[in-house]
Amino acid sequence: MVQKRQTHSMSSIADNIGSVTRRIQKATVAAGRDPDSVHLLAVSKTRPPEAIRAAVAAGQTAFGENYLQEALEKIDALQDLSELEWHFIGPIQSNKTRQIAESFAWVHSVDRLKIARRLSEQRPDGLPALNICLQVNINNEASKSGCRLEQLPELVDAIGELPNLSLRGLMAIPNPDQPEGELRLSFRKLAGTLRALKQAHPEAGPLDTLSMGMSGDLETAIAEGATWVRVGTAVFGAREKKPAQG
Ligand SMILES: *Cc1c(COP(=O)(O)O)cnc(C)c1O
Repeated sequence: MVQKRQTHSMSSIADNIGSVTRRIQKATVAAGRDPDSVHLLAVSKTRPPEAIRAAVAAGQTAFGENYLQEALEKIDALQDLSELEWHFIGPIQSNKTRQIAESFAWVHSVDRLKIARRLSEQRPDGLPALNICLQVNINNEASKSGCRLEQLPELVDAIGELPNLSLRGLMAIPNPDQPEGELRLSFRKLAGTLRALKQAHPEAGPLDTLSMGMSGDLETAIAEGATWVRVGTAVFGAREKKPAQG
């Protein structure tokens, strides 16, 4: 029975990637942006390696994971697929930085200097600089991770000095319950913040990346300048409840 259900979901993953890709293209064109300027990060948390293989067969190469232990198991199980690019997008405990620095190409969820320092120190020799985004708590929600906007200038200066990191930009998860107009303003605020930081701190890193937009709001995020949209449900289907944090 499990076998049958999986066979069905595997074939729909390819269809889903096709329709998400068309949504991205349409929104990018509508915004008058370069078609190559928006990338799809397939968020594979809670999904088995076979689901990722199905996505790879449909041409997807970048995958986002939130839970380290779960991610490491999948990275190991998929080692034969050498072209994969792994992005860490979950909350980071400082005792987990070494494995993140060793196994990922990108980290979207850096929100304090201590974590950035450890990632830089622990990035293995021989690997390219680790691409990072600073996660911003854009709606100042008490329950959310991410730094405050006011902390960014100092963080950007300090992180710009770290040798093994490439500071690519900003990431946010706006409160999805706000009205569409306010959601749009949250994305716009993140984009404006990135522009200002790039101007004020030109040496800190490329600062060319806005990681914003998910299954339900990727069009709005792209209209406001997203360069990575992080999409789980619309690629892999509805998630069951999340596993214990690892
Ligand atoms: C789960 C998750 C996503 C994907 O959310 P969907 O609504 O399933 O597309 C994106 N970003 C982060 C940080 C996530 O944890």
